Amino acid sequence: MTERLDGTVALVTGASSGIGEATARTLAGLGAAVALVARRKERLDRLAADIEGSGGRALVIEADVTDRGQALGAVLRTAEELGRIDTVVNNAGVMLLGPIEDAPLEEWERMMSVNLMGFMYIAHASLPHLLKAAEGPPRQVADLVNISSTAGRYARSGAGVYNVTKFGVIAFTESLRQEVTKRHVRVSVVEPGAVTTELATHIRPEVLPALAQRLAGVERMAPEDIADAIAYIVTRPRRVAVNEMLVRPTEQEV
Ligand code: NDP
Repeated sequence: MTERLDGTVALVTGASSGIGEATARTLAGLGAAVALVARRKERLDRLAADIEGSGGRALVIEADVTDRGQALGAVLRTAEELGRIDTVVNNAGVMLLGPIEDAPLEEWERMMSVNLMGFMYIAHASLPHLLKAAEGPPRQVADLVNISSTAGRYARSGAGVYNVTKFGVIAFTESLRQEVTKRHVRVSVVEPGAVTTELATHIRPEVLPALAQRLAGVERMAPEDIADAIAYIVTRPRRVAVNEMLVRPTEQEV
């Protein structure tokens, strides 16, 4: 049975493209009002217009999650303007692959600040709202879905600091899951394999051939495939918590 999300509110970070955008559309289609969080406001405005054109409700929030105040502000605005927060998809991330040797340290700092600090700021700020939503109708359960990666399960040469951040997402998820699960906040992690998005467009050109070689001949997933996985998690009955979901393209070996 798939439950609908009518009367609930979902906040999606990184909603301006890729997995976050597809997830926001999917959750809106299931009846949730959605808060769209990212830095590229014009992309969020277009998405919000689409969602509202299909009969949904969307709130655009321009925010950089690496800024503690902006991350908190995004969560507070969602709660104030949409009334509550039942679902958070903690998805914003960057993947700046490359060898550790001679790596530009700015890339490491950027990955740590978006994929870990921004991610944790959003989780920390959302938690009181999720705990409150879980106490009452319509669902008496709330969801924090964190987006890791196959890179959070398997370290690989050329992905070291991205691995650090995505392993960190899984560790944080499990710790927080144990902390709040008795209060009916389900904390879960999704670990996608290769998905066709803008993620690889920020990688230095000299690093791209190694990535292309590893995934040669692999038909990538679409962002909607991961949105489906997230929708499955957040529409389970209250008694069911899907703790972890690893979703790869069929042809991806590792
Ligand atoms: P995209 O590059 O398409 O999307 C990344 C999103 O993160 C954008 O909406 C971007 O918005 C947002 N973002 C980046 N930095 C910030 C910031 N400082 N503040 C707020 N938002 C930010 O890539 P994906 O959709 O692929 O990535 C989504 C997540 O999925 C990431 O965590 C990624 O690591 C993970 N993932 C992706 C895989 C893939 O193959 N594509 C595989 C495994 C995991 P904006 O620039 O407008 O701020």
